[in-house]
Amino acid sequence: MVDDGQREAAPAALCPDVYLFHDEELPPERAAAFVAHLPGCGRCRSELRWLAEMDAQAARVLGIGRESAPMPPIVWLLLILLVLQVLLVALFIRGSP
Ligand SMILES: [Zn+2]
Repeated sequence: MVDDGQREAAPAALCPDVYLFHDEELPPERAAAFVAHLPGCGRCRSELRWLAEMDAQAARVLGIGRESAPMPPIVWLLLILLVLQVLLVALFIRGSP
């Protein structure tokens, strides 16, 4: 009767399978059933969209993090050794006549 757009106002409960489906942990028949119900379930659709967005953001953050990762300690050690070597060579050159 009052089914035209009124359902959007009510907070629809999230279907329990949405996270399992997103994590690909649903058995095939339940995944198929979940996919079949998606056209009629805006809550799950938006939740899946949000989850996909989070995945993309996480991948982006991880990707950027890998590119601009801080220098590993070995690089710092090599740099310090290089500076020390330069200093020693400079002292040696200055010390010798
Ligand atoms: Zn749903």
